[in-house]
Amino acid sequence: MGIKWTLIKIFLDLFFRNNFMSKLSNRVNAISESQTIAMARKSRELKAKGVDIISLSLGEPDFATPQIIKEAAKKAIDDNFSYYTHVSGYIELREAICKKFKRDNNLDYSPDEIVVSTGAKQSIANAVLCLVNDGDEVIVPAPYWVSYLEILKLAGGKPVIINTEIESDYKLSADQLKKAITSKTKLIMISTPCNPTGSVYSQQELKELAKVVAEYPDLYILSDEIYEHINFIGGHQSFAQFDFIKDRVITINGVSKGFAMTGWRGGIMAAPKWIAQACDKMQGQFTSATCSITQKAMHKAMELDYETYIKPMTDEFLKRRNLVLELMKDIKGLKTNVPEGAFYVYPEVSYYFGKQYNNFIIKNATDLSLYLLDEAHVALVPGAAFGEDNYIRFSYATNESILKEALKRMKKALDQLV
Ligand code: PMP
Ligand code: GLU
Repeated sequence: MGIKWTLIKIFLDLFFRNNFMSKLSNRVNAISESQTIAMARKSRELKAKGVDIISLSLGEPDFATPQIIKEAAKKAIDDNFSYYTHVSGYIELREAICKKFKRDNNLDYSPDEIVVSTGAKQSIANAVLCLVNDGDEVIVPAPYWVSYLEILKLAGGKPVIINTEIESDYKLSADQLKKAITSKTKLIMISTPCNPTGSVYSQQELKELAKVVAEYPDLYILSDEIYEHINFIGGHQSFAQFDFIKDRVITINGVSKGFAMTGWRGGIMAAPKWIAQACDKMQGQFTSATCSITQKAMHKAMELDYETYIKPMTDEFLKRRNLVLELMKDIKGLKTNVPEGAFYVYPEVSYYFGKQYNNFIIKNATDLSLYLLDEAHVALVPGAAFGEDNYIRFSYATNESILKEALKRMKKALDQLV
């Protein structure tokens, strides 16, 4: 198709979109489309046109949802479990979630501190919209997950980005955190294991951050632990384990990643009762509750034996991570940390800036992603979506032969940049 034509198409799309923007609310105009979803959409469109695209853009497990979960959902349909439930999720499900928090994380929660939602994304939106007022500052360590900033914009919050470095495995330090806090800081948004870097905070690292938070009684933490089960070093650590700040921690979890249930849309929030009640009120006006059948499936997921059902998937992700890191050694300009969780690699790619192929000059990681899409037919997400356009993110939640082919194509395309 040619990279110039791709750029013309992007320009035309923007032109037509701008035409309608004045008719839309300022609220929606202020936010960007999710870049992960946009890339996935572009790959689907190209695939539909017959282009042999390998999409490593969207982070979702390629595994099927475990059969036992599917059976629970089928039974729910046959049992006519098809009515509105409690907005926060039916009580036995929330009890099962409390048991999960006790069993896996040694956290004590009661069902009225749990809100089940239509995906971790909604749980995050609920919490942010319930806590953040116009002008409140929210600390977000970068690289951050794509949707944090856009959700913050919807709430009128002011993101305070703290850049982290490869040398510290992209983790936020207590010192950095302390320096960023002002009298207006309301919330910190953080993920462990982290999307996009795969970094996993240790208990000690979290404790250092928690001690800083403890000094500021009006500061809250949104701890996004959706990748809890995809952790290659074991022993997931939750922020809420520190009793001295637990009443200010909002824990986000869900079934999308660990249980291969992205399309079911099941999210979990555990938080102090007053925050849970506010999110219940918010959700009651937006979605009423997530799907009743999904809730039954989530209920089964909460009870599954980790070793039998979850660990085999995590083991497979680890094999794939090792494969990808090994193959990347042959590609000169990709500089990465060793991700200890989630299923992404996030290499720094500035080595390629200023290089060109067929008169297309790579100026940033967005150009590089466009080039790889066009030349290698591999779809990735540019780092701009996560805070810095010197990186590309690709997901390795796909099988080994596809990964080998993708890396082979990327190497060929990258090697021809001069
Ligand atoms: N948080 C992070 C860090 C994620 O990567 C994702 C990706 N889906 C989500 C939240 C949202 O997950 P869900 O599918 O449950 O909405
Ligand atoms: N969380 C995944 C990702 O980062 C899925 C996409 C999304 O929810 O935006 O790719």
